[in-house]
Amino acid sequence: MARKAGRKAEKVAEEERLTLDEAAAALGVSRSTLYRWQNQGRVKGFKVGRQWRFKRSDLENFSKMTHPAAASVNVGELDTALAEMIIRAGSGKEVVFDPAVPGYPATEEERAVAEAFSAMLATAAKARASDVHIDAERGETTVRQRVDGGLREMVRVPKSSHGALVSCIKAHAGIPLDQRGLPQDGRFTLRMADQEFDVRTATMPAVYGESVVMRLLIQSHVFVDLERLGMYPEDLEKYRRALRAPVGLLIASGPTGSGKTTVLYSGLKEIARAEVKIMSIEDPVEYALRHVTQVPVVKKAGLTFEAGLRAFLRHDPDIVLAGELRSLESAETAAQIAITGHLMMTVLHAQTAGEAVTRLLDMGLEPFMVTQTLIYVSAQRLARKVCSKCVEPQEPESTLLSALAERAHRGGYELPDSPTFMRGKGCDQCRQTGYHGRTGIYECMEVSREIQRLIMARASAEEIEEVAVRNGMTTLAADGLRKAADGITSVAEAARVVAVEAG
Ligand SMILES: [Zn+2]
Repeated sequence: MARKAGRKAEKVAEEERLTLDEAAAALGVSRSTLYRWQNQGRVKGFKVGRQWRFKRSDLENFSKMTHPAAASVNVGELDTALAEMIIRAGSGKEVVFDPAVPGYPATEEERAVAEAFSAMLATAAKARASDVHIDAERGETTVRQRVDGGLREMVRVPKSSHGALVSCIKAHAGIPLDQRGLPQDGRFTLRMADQEFDVRTATMPAVYGESVVMRLLIQSHVFVDLERLGMYPEDLEKYRRALRAPVGLLIASGPTGSGKTTVLYSGLKEIARAEVKIMSIEDPVEYALRHVTQVPVVKKAGLTFEAGLRAFLRHDPDIVLAGELRSLESAETAAQIAITGHLMMTVLHAQTAGEAVTRLLDMGLEPFMVTQTLIYVSAQRLARKVCSKCVEPQEPESTLLSALAERAHRGGYELPDSPTFMRGKGCDQCRQTGYHGRTGIYECMEVSREIQRLIMARASAEEIEEVAVRNGMTTLAADGLRKAADGITSVAEAARVVAVEAG
């Protein structure tokens, strides 16, 4: 539906007019998104000759309309306020939420739900939540947020409000409202005082109503400087050596949600510059990277992960970044890229660095392909950091400490004479959990001649680890205990993430 570009251009003062580019930048969206919004009548634009122009005040009104309460929510009182808003929204009526309709939110119900929605996001953003989960159960709907890896309940929503809330979210994320029977996904941008979030939204039909997950991605959090990843200098030096290598295969491994991609992106950020051609294949592309040609996987069009990777060989990149290697075909292509004079950076789902190596062989990659390409493998976990506000010295539980110390000893680390074990007593900042923020726990292995010989002999992950430790690697358990002894995390948390139990 094309809107009328009826307004006379000369009525709008010169300084009020923004070009398409300026307006898109002001709203934090791409030119094409803004153009689409304009076509849909969500944003008012007008033509000067053949060029689109936008009035500054219209854009400001649009921003306020999209997230009416985001700037003004008092988070201290939020749990009650949020509950009230949602209950107020739950009139039981079928409300059609469509931000594309000019004047939205138009009715009392729309406004109430839109406010609740904004308040929810504002709360999650303030709490540094990575995602918000909305799940319908039999009697009511639970809204939870994930903070530092753990889920916490934010609010319960009466059943009567569920549909309205979900519709509101879907409308903002650009998901069609009429297809409730299928999983859908979309995204929108949330701008708060000083941060910008890309909110990736996915819905899933469930028995008691649609479930929604909103992932709050902060641009600045992905591009962390390497120094801030929590690697000790020795490990950082190994990683940097690998990043500077002109050819070879570099692998970051770990379980899902261990921050592997962040480590790769941060490494890439350090080496990306105009003189280096970098190509990446991602499923999906989540963040725009400077100086990187990012290719999204489009299965429907036949552009699979494997096909994209193979095509890179003809584009003469210096560095290739690829998401997780899952198939023999992708592993072979990655090795081929590395062997033909490129630095290949990728991710593998494996528990330890040694296991990542045997995983490649188990996938069917020939040992000689591995030894000729693999230069560096890391494994990692994320551990919660002791809250800086309520930190106090702590004597850790002795059986747990000795079990972890024993593993760390085999992993290349000895406790110092006077370790400074800490814990968080619990305060407002950490919501009484004693933890605030997270850090990485790493093991970084350079592939030496000796390890190459083990790979040729198809040695076990344990044998590889043993030799790596002799060559100077510290294992996950060792790194975890060292971070506990330095007071960064607690012994209990280090033991938990590296799966050590009191023995
Ligand atoms: Zn605290």
